[in-house]
Amino acid sequence: MRYIWINPVARAMYGYEAIRRALKQKEYECIDAEADWGGIVREKYRKLVQETGEAAASGTGWGVTPATVVDARCPKAYQMVKHAFEGPELVFGDIHPILIHIAIELSETPRYAGAEKIITTPCASLADEGNALRLQDTRFIPWNQFREALGLQLPVEAIEASPIPPGYFAGLPGRIDSISEEHRIWNYFRRGDDRGASLVEMLFCKDGCHNGDGV
Ligand code: SF4
Repeated sequence: MRYIWINPVARAMYGYEAIRRALKQKEYECIDAEADWGGIVREKYRKLVQETGEAAASGTGWGVTPATVVDARCPKAYQMVKHAFEGPELVFGDIHPILIHIAIELSETPRYAGAEKIITTPCASLADEGNALRLQDTRFIPWNQFREALGLQLPVEAIEASPIPPGYFAGLPGRIDSISEEHRIWNYFRRGDDRGASLVEMLFCKDGCHNGDGV
């Protein structure tokens, strides 16, 4: 048996039950992580925002205004901003995207040891980031590539709202900004709009991952 994790965008677009049934016929079993990685990752960011604020208050940060934590869940946006705008006023935390955390857990789960594990992604950049980790018996692949390679014929269900919408960090302390689309993210940092923000959420694709290149 081979194991596969289906990303939330594909689940919403094609229907999880329909995907499970179709993949079972191809001898793939759909699996999930035990841990609530969405909640755990959000808590990691909350702590990072808090520590950054405390560093500013104690005079060990880059200035009296706390630095801005940069969302690292979208590799494409994160790398673009890091490359072009890295400086002491921005915090590039070492927090994996949620999907990568899930893959790490599955790769280390004894029940799945020795079997191939496929992690489907909504874009090539997440697949590249995952494959660079070289997790045991684990391969990341954009959902559309996997579906086409397997010849899966599944009707698309229209989705009105993104399953991964902007707003993930709502409720964290301080000013949380949220931007999607390459040119908007670029202009935001170029203008210095990040000044005073605790954290900036970034999604490279318009409105989120349902517009990724791998769905
Ligand atoms: S917003 Fe687009 S590029 Fe970023 S993680 Fe989602 S699908 Fe990938």
